Parts: sequence; structure tokens; C-alpha cells
Amino acid sequence: MKPGLLIVLSGPAGVGKGSIVRRMMELSDRVVLSVSATSRPPRPGEKEGVNYFFRSREQFEEMINNDELIEWVEYCGNFYGTPRKFVVDEIKKGNIVILEIEVKGALNVKRLFPDSVLCFILPPDFEELEKRLRGRATEDEDTIIKRLNRAKEEFQVIDKYDYIILNDTIDSAAKRFMSIVESEQMRTHRNKEFIDKFKNV
Ligand code: 5GP
Repeated sequence: MKPGLLIVLSGPAGVGKGSIVRRMMELSDRVVLSVSATSRPPRPGEKEGVNYFFRSREQFEEMINNDELIEWVEYCGNFYGTPRKFVVDEIKKGNIVILEIEVKGALNVKRLFPDSVLCFILPPDFEELEKRLRGRATEDEDTIIKRLNRAKEEFQVIDKYDYIILNDTIDSAAKRFMSIVESEQMRTHRNKEFIDKFKNV
């Protein structure tokens, strides 16, 4: 009878967020990833409903107006937002919902859901991050430099997060992440009903 959790995961492009989440989903079938909506066009290989819900700017604005999103931001000229229904339903089921979002959205989620857990993934050092980004070879030089500069900005607010997770290897990072999840699930304030049973024996 473990409680549901809302986990927000941020970290610079290229740090390995996607791989860590995939490993987490292999480790536990209670881990689910929220699929965001975006107005940016799909990249080659990206699939509707898997990577994102791809929407026009007009459709996105309609989602905002209908209060269908928990949070949304405009990032590099495109809208990104977290659909509300999936998150609420999955937490109710007792699942661990992961939002993979940038820092502004993360801090908004913390404000709206103080019980959410904010985790920031870090590489061993900045040079390693640069190496990983270049190694992906999916972005041109201009984009790589933009993303590295964006990373430097995001590092400035790390202390607003609850945890950092070092990603030296995917396996170790996923284990660290899982131990955070398990500890958070055992926090007394998340287990009031269970504790009450013992208070009332
Ligand atoms: P990309 O275009 O590379 O897929 O994503 C750009 C940035 O937007 C990434 O940092 C990603 O984590 C973030 N992002 C994706 N979905 C959302 C969302 O729903 N809300 C917010 N605030 N950021 C998002």
C-alpha cells in the first residue's frame, strides 16, 4: 500500500534523463511517464502520444483556456505543457508519475503541488556533458552551444530542487533515483492512514 508520488525530473539536454526514466520503468511497473503537449514540430522518429502530443499553437492555447494543463511554458519559441488528467489519475492509482520538464515548469509544479519531489540530474562534470551532447550528433553546433548555455542558466536554480542525482552510469543513476522514490514513499506525512491503524490498535 505505497502512496502515489509526483516526481519532477529536470537536467540539461544530453544528461541522460530519457535513459534513466526508461530504466526506472524497467525496474518498476508503477513508474509512469507523463507525456507533454507541445507546439514544436516532431523531430525525425518522434511519435504522437509517445514522445509528445503534437499540437498547433491554436490547439495549445485552447488547452490552456480549458485548464487542461497543470503547467505550461514557452521555451525556445514553442509551448510545452503537462496534461492534468493523466497526472491526477495515475497518482490516485498509487503510481509514481514522472514529469520530465525544464526548471521554470518544475518550480511552478512545486508551487501548485508542494508534495511533489523535484530531482535534478547532473553529469559528473561540464566537459562530460559537452561530450555527451556532441556524441548524440542530433543537433547542429549552434543548437549545442544554445543548449550548453541554457544548462549553465539552469544550474543556477539547482538549490531549489529537493535532490540531485548524479548520472555517471545509467544503472547507478536509476538506483539512486529509485532509493529517493522509496524513501519519499515512506515519509510519515504520506502514510497517515497506515499510521492511524497502529495508533488505534
Ligand atoms: P525538447 O524540445 O528538447 O523535447 O524539450 C525542450 C525542453 O522542454 C526540455 O528541457 C524538456 O524537459 C522541456 N519540456 C518538455 N515537456 C515539458 C512540459 O510539459 N513542461 C515544461 N515546463 N517543460 C517541458
